[in-house]
This record gives sequence, structure tokens and C-alpha cells, in this order.
Amino acid sequence: MIKPDAVKAGNIGNILQMINAAGFRIVAMKYTHLTMDTAGKFYEVHKERPFYGELCEFMSSGPIVAAILEKENAVADFRTLIGATNPANAEEGTIRKKYATSIGENAVHGSDSDENAIIEGNFFFNGLERF
Ligand code: ATP
Ligand code: MG
Repeated sequence: MIKPDAVKAGNIGNILQMINAAGFRIVAMKYTHLTMDTAGKFYEVHKERPFYGELCEFMSSGPIVAAILEKENAVADFRTLIGATNPANAEEGTIRKKYATSIGENAVHGSDSDENAIIEGNFFFNGLERF
């Protein structure tokens, strides 16, 4: 996902360019706006965390871009491309180093396992929306 902060800042194009340059293929893509309820479901694993409310508020604060990306070793390579959760700790040249502003407003989301990538892809896309 490209998160609301990066969409608002006009960075959709820049981020997609970095994703393409890193060799990911776009299987599905959607411009949409999460509600408190749908953001809450997406991030349900974090329900008990102190930042859950803040995270759901932020993720529903504006439109997002959701995508399914394909590549060998996609989960690990995408996490390398996006950088650390907190942009202060993100490597130079990563998406979060360039475009994130804080640990909460950190420009992009990446799945953390193949299993969750399938669940998260199914959250946004049906079979007719994948190519
Ligand atoms: P994401 O799942 O969005 O790719 P991540 O896997 O790097 O991020 P997680 O630990 O899964 O990090 O946290 C999910 C999201 O919750 C973070 O991307 C960030 O937006 C928010 N978050 C995490 N930790 C904090 C925190 N300490 N304070 C505020 N928000 C946080
Ligand atoms: Mg995560």
C-alpha cells in the first residue's frame, strides 16, 4: 500500500517508479479510501498495540493505493526496498528514507510473510482484478 501521507504529498508516481525499477511486476492495483472499520480489519493483528487507534485514524485519513506485486523473493525484497518502520532508521535509498515522515506516517506498507501477502491481496482484490 501507498499510505495516505505519501498520496497527499504527491508521491504516488515517485514510489511506483522505485517499485518498477526494483523489478516488481504489478499484478493488481487500486486507488481507494479505507474507513476506520476497514483499516481496523486490515491491521487487526495490531489490535492490542497502543498505536492501533492512531494507526486506523491515519490509514483512513485519505485515499491509498493498494497493489499486489510479484517478484522472486518478493516479501523480503520489498521490505528491503521500503526500509525500516521508523524512517529515522531506514537505509539511504529506501522508500521510507525518502518519503516517510515518522514511525506512524511512513509512506508505504509491505506484507511481512507470503502467508500474509495472500491474505492482504485477497482483502483488496478479487480474481477479475489480477493480471
Ligand atoms: P507495515 O505493516 O505498515 O508495512 P511495518 O511492518 O514496518 O509496517 P508494523 O510493526 O507492522 O511495521 O506496524 C504497522 C504500522 O503501524 C507501521 O507501519 C506504522 O504505520 C504503525 N506503527 C508501528 N509502530 C508504531 C509506533 N510505535 N507508533 C505509531 N505508529 C506505529
Ligand atoms: Mg507490518
